[in-house]
Amino acid sequence: MLSRTQKENLKRLVPKVAISFYHFCRLILKRAYQQAYSFAYRGSGYYCPFCQYYHQHFLPDGMKAKVIEKYQVIGGGYRPNCLCPKCGSKDRERLLYQFLQRKTNLFSDTPKRVLHIAPEKNLKKVLQKQLQLNYLNADLAAGAADVQMDITQIAYPDNYFDVILCNHVLEHIPNDQKAMQELYRVLKPHGWAILQVPFAEKLAKTYEDFSITDPAERETHFGQFDHVRIYGQDYPQRLQNAGFNVSTYNAIDALGQDVVNKQLLIAEEKIFLGKKE
Ligand SMILES: [Zn+2]
Repeated sequence: MLSRTQKENLKRLVPKVAISFYHFCRLILKRAYQQAYSFAYRGSGYYCPFCQYYHQHFLPDGMKAKVIEKYQVIGGGYRPNCLCPKCGSKDRERLLYQFLQRKTNLFSDTPKRVLHIAPEKNLKKVLQKQLQLNYLNADLAAGAADVQMDITQIAYPDNYFDVILCNHVLEHIPNDQKAMQELYRVLKPHGWAILQVPFAEKLAKTYEDFSITDPAERETHFGQFDHVRIYGQDYPQRLQNAGFNVSTYNAIDALGQDVVNKQLLIAEEKIFLGKKE
């Protein structure tokens, strides 16, 4: 196996077209594997709300990292029952979809302007079909979404969006306060945002160290090569500092034990909802 640094060096040497072809082949193989697995493991135990199939098992996903175990980080790291074998939905994507359906007005008939950052694939498909939504999806990487966007500099006016979905993004951004301020700025009064991050209840204070820039070191300290921190109990306060009125929901309280069990959601995951009053 190549180390992270060796992989980065290899990337610089190999032409971009070869890398694209490699990723295309990987995707085809992954889809074929998922289809075969889906066929083999179709059953009545667990349910995916996106593809609406029942399965005996889901598939593992995420990386194993000592620091994730040490701080008991929720919503990150290796999960043995994460991916739907049919459509590839992740546990946190299913949680988000169920929360949006059952606990928000997103799917009501009222027209809304929605900004979805680093869009989850299956949720994006669902939202694109909602005719009452003026739906915009955006990503820092060019070509990864409809619009390229750096959320520390959002090129939209104040009070523009009714709803913002920004999940598992802020842990990648060094200046997360600026990103939070920008998200708050473009949100309309009475608008709301879902702001999920990997979260460590064990940490009283968010762990970050901007002197750590090497991808391998970041993986050791923050659990993933491109993460710059692990959020702790002060995460809601950081959102409040940017202006948000924050409500926190527990997955089981919000959706019920049955939904959490049936859809293999992360029972300990909290949902962070930020409102602009
Ligand atoms: Zn599915």
